[in-house]
Amino acid sequence: MPQRVQLPQTLEGKTAIVAGAAGFVPSYLCEFYLGLGCKVIGLDNFVTGSKSNIEILSKYPNFEFHEQDISVGLPDFKGQNIDYIFSLASPASPIDFKIIPLEIMKVNSVGTWNLLELAKEKHARFLEASTSEVYGDPEIHPQVEEYVGSVNPVGPRSCYDESKRFAEALTMTYYRQFNVDTRIVRIFNTYGPRMRPDDGRVIPNFINQALANEDITVYGDGSQTRSFCFVTDLVQGIHNVMHTNIHTPFNIGNPDEYSIKEAAEYIVKVLGSQSKIINLPLPEDDPRQRRPNINKLQAISDYKPEVTFDVGLKKTAEYFQSLRK
Ligand code: UDP
Repeated sequence: MPQRVQLPQTLEGKTAIVAGAAGFVPSYLCEFYLGLGCKVIGLDNFVTGSKSNIEILSKYPNFEFHEQDISVGLPDFKGQNIDYIFSLASPASPIDFKIIPLEIMKVNSVGTWNLLELAKEKHARFLEASTSEVYGDPEIHPQVEEYVGSVNPVGPRSCYDESKRFAEALTMTYYRQFNVDTRIVRIFNTYGPRMRPDDGRVIPNFINQALANEDITVYGDGSQTRSFCFVTDLVQGIHNVMHTNIHTPFNIGNPDEYSIKEAAEYIVKVLGSQSKIINLPLPEDDPRQRRPNINKLQAISDYKPEVTFDVGLKKTAEYFQSLRK
């Protein structure tokens, strides 16, 4: 049996670097660590991150921010103790794969490499935020961490899938070669307030379409599935993994699985929208099914996603509604 994780009551006196701090998920992670008394140093070049997230974080006295492209280099941290490094700087939406594929490949290779070098130098614990995309279009369902995936290396999603697979390989290499204290999480579909309204992903698209009573754009016949995790549940999982001593990857997500058609119908119903559902062509290499097996995470911690789909959708819709005013 793996050892159960001991979560610290406080992180006062500790310092964490969060690469990608202006992004949706990392901004919640920063707040969680700031709430535990940790000093947080955020890095971001705003390629997809929002200045408004940094404004929220800047209200915390323990938050420091550097505008920095981590694939070019890192700020000088000479004389600074660093306890934790979180590698969350990659754009992650399929629309980004078309617009900024090289930036994605650079940040997941050179950017991650720079962070790992810093972890080695500072003897810091390092966490790579990888993705369920490493499983590609999975042939086994639900996905377990031992499954090595079915990725098209030359398809339109490969800039992300393959660079995250490289980031995982690099992380394991720093662990094996230099004994850097690394962790890897594979993040499944996540949603919540602070997502970009034009992010292109299914939940922001459907909610914004439903709020405007516009057609809901289901790609393909909508039989493909996803499992949606509310952002605060994801952050708790990341924290749990950071405090294990296990170096191999952990899935994090909510195993509650919906077909995209069901998700569209559900959103229309929950938001009381007049929208009609229409079908548009399915993008190339769109994974047919995705659902995390989270037994590994549950074997080390009391992890249980708490926010149900309807509660999470309402919170997210309230956020998007507030942007429309
Ligand atoms: N999708 C859709 N309509 C949209 C946006 C996405 O039907 O307006 C589908 C997409 O084809 C995929 C699923 O929803 O099957 C999830 O897409 P998303 O871009 O959110 O993330 P992915 O899981 O594909 O990385």
